[in-house]
Amino acid sequence: MRLTIVGCAGSFPGPDSASSCYLLEHDGFRLLLDLGSGALGPLQRHVDLRDIDAVALSHLHADHCFDLTGFFVVSKYHPDGQMPEIPIYAPDGAGPFLASSYGRTEGLQLGDQFDFHDWTDGKSVDIGPFTVTPTLVDHPVTAYAFRVEAGGKVVAYSGDTAPIDALVDVAAGADLFLCEASFVESNENPPNLHLTGAEAGEYAARAGVGRLLVTHIPSWTDAAEVESDLLTTYAGPYDIVRAGDVYDL
Ligand SMILES: [Zn+2]
Ligand SMILES: [Zn+2]
Repeated sequence: MRLTIVGCAGSFPGPDSASSCYLLEHDGFRLLLDLGSGALGPLQRHVDLRDIDAVALSHLHADHCFDLTGFFVVSKYHPDGQMPEIPIYAPDGAGPFLASSYGRTEGLQLGDQFDFHDWTDGKSVDIGPFTVTPTLVDHPVTAYAFRVEAGGKVVAYSGDTAPIDALVDVAAGADLFLCEASFVESNENPPNLHLTGAEAGEYAARAGVGRLLVTHIPSWTDAAEVESDLLTTYAGPYDIVRAGDVYDL
């Protein structure tokens, strides 16, 4: 399994990265975890957009799903021909929501190119060679973390979430744990929204992950402070990921 960090900026695109988008490849199949604002651009550095086989959306915030509207244009109007229908796994309501974001208010709801499937909490889904298990997390909209398994390896992804013990099961023994850390401990952070680096580290330690990949740091946040928070709770291998980073498992 190969993981490419296409975009890792938290909440909105930053000067050095698009919003959340992670490319997973295994056995020639290409699955995107999230396709947030700005991500369709740098994604083209890593893969031909017409080779994307499926998309898994953690939640319907713009920084995790909005570039699906651009991907719709590519899939429907590319001069080399229309792509086959693409499965999109997402929270309930994604079809109408994204159709409205695209500018459609009725009719096909993007269903002429995208085949939407709703996640069910805890129910694993086979997507090509990947088995993806979604787990509800704590965020202002319906949001899922993912445990993705393929070829005997595991990549876990927190999506966006406030502290929630379910992350320990999502990431248990994972080879890689992509975990958000949007907040710093020195601020008064609002509840039910995001994690700090210290909280990400705590979950990674409890889950016994092989490597923690800290992500979703907004450009207004000091990544060095997130990292120093992390080191108060976590002593294992980690990276503060950057756009373009690649991990082969
Ligand atoms: Zn986000
Ligand atoms: Zn969010």
